[in-house]
Amino acid sequence: MNDSSIIADQLVYRYKELTAVDHISFEVARGEVFSFLGPNGAGKSTTVKMLTGELRPAQGKATLLGIDVSKQPSKVHAQIGVAFEIANLYEEMSGIENLNLFAQLFGIKHFDANALLARVGLDGRGKEHVSNYSKGMKQRLMIARALVNKPRILFLDEPTDGLDPVSSETIRGIIREEANNGTTVFLTTHNMVEADKVSNRVAFINKGKIVALDTPHKLKQQYGKRALKVEIECPDGTLERHDIVLDQTETPQVIHDLFANQRVVTVHSEEATLEDIFIQFTGRGLT
Ligand code: ATP
Repeated sequence: MNDSSIIADQLVYRYKELTAVDHISFEVARGEVFSFLGPNGAGKSTTVKMLTGELRPAQGKATLLGIDVSKQPSKVHAQIGVAFEIANLYEEMSGIENLNLFAQLFGIKHFDANALLARVGLDGRGKEHVSNYSKGMKQRLMIARALVNKPRILFLDEPTDGLDPVSSETIRGIIREEANNGTTVFLTTHNMVEADKVSNRVAFINKGKIVALDTPHKLKQQYGKRALKVEIECPDGTLERHDIVLDQTETPQVIHDLFANQRVVTVHSEEATLEDIFIQFTGRGLT
């Protein structure tokens, strides 16, 4: 038996003439953090909606935790958490009330909303109306709400978008903690720095197709160019920048000549970013 938490098998979705998702296949293992990276309109949300049963694929099959999503959506819903649309929060209710309502819907007894709020850094703010929350606070409440039923798979959309660096790190901490406890985390994002920090593997999606899928490290190793950024001081005292691409046959000679003949002031090494590699694959950036 296949023990993948998520199996997308040749998923296709069309909005009238537009094929938004075009034969997408991948598997995500239990406890893995998997990111879907792509620009606006790439087909990320549409894919997630098929995985969570919100949209029915035109072709292909989504299987979560061994369950065919199209056949048993409610069985799947009980075991997943989804933080997608901030608009789905009840603004006129407090944070605690929002969470309690969700716990009731899942039939959870002895639910501790305060503990969950503390976990996402909203302790002490739970009694305020959500309409008073900042965007970042709503974002955290969404994540808390997605965790109410202790899901085995967590779907998060741009979880740190609009958050300050400290809050972003809190959220990344929660993602890592969940994954360490065996929860599978599926992220959709156009933030490649974010994806690089938390993901075990990333899939690049463009125009409804997966164009690359691997660990961030392997993608960078395989497709990225490492470089040295060198600053030299010219005879007139001005600084000049040189980029030296590493791993080429002529690289050692270029470096040797530079150090032998010039006054080198600074040297920095630079690794390719996921965005550089995405551009190589698609000819376009992530934003
Ligand atoms: P974003 O990062 O902006 O959320 P995305 O990668 O999630 O983008 P999707 O929302 O899946 O992309 O959209 C994929 C394509 O399908 C886009 O061309 C979009 O315009 C189109 N699309 C999405 N929803 C609908 C809809 N309800 N009706 C018609 N077309 C749609």
